[in-house]
Amino acid sequence: METALKNSDGASCIFCKIIKKEIPTEFILEEDDVLAFDDINPKAPVHILVIPKKHIESVSDLDSENAGVAERLILGAKKIAEGKKLSGYKLVFNVGQEGGQIISHIHLHLLGGWPSSPGKLEV
Ligand code: AMP
Ligand code: ZN
Repeated sequence: METALKNSDGASCIFCKIIKKEIPTEFILEEDDVLAFDDINPKAPVHILVIPKKHIESVSDLDSENAGVAERLILGAKKIAEGKKLSGYKLVFNVGQEGGQIISHIHLHLLGGWPSSPGKLEV
């Protein structure tokens, strides 16, 4: 698999292209600094990606200066989950190649909508 993790600059980043509307994508949530859209290859009945508009590669690039990004992603996901009346859901950050991260633009997976709880993805 071609590793998007090599694309460390925003110019070649697929999610930055979505932010710049170079790849037409329907936004589920758009705030000043956060966007959300359906995952193209859903792993759950509801599978949404919440991303910052600023290009930050990974959770491993967060520090005390920019960790607020993670907070805004989580609150964005929570708002979407409430809007969709999900009674329960999972929030997942894949971090680094070994953690399953393919796209090197930090993103929070919101997974839910299973017909019965708990969800299928036990951690
Ligand atoms: P990760 O493995 O955490 O990097 O997840 C990247 C996710 O991005 C995968 O679940 C992909 O299905 C999803 N994805 C890749 N390209 C697109 C796209 N153009 N629009 C929506 N989701 C995408
Ligand atoms: Zn990016």
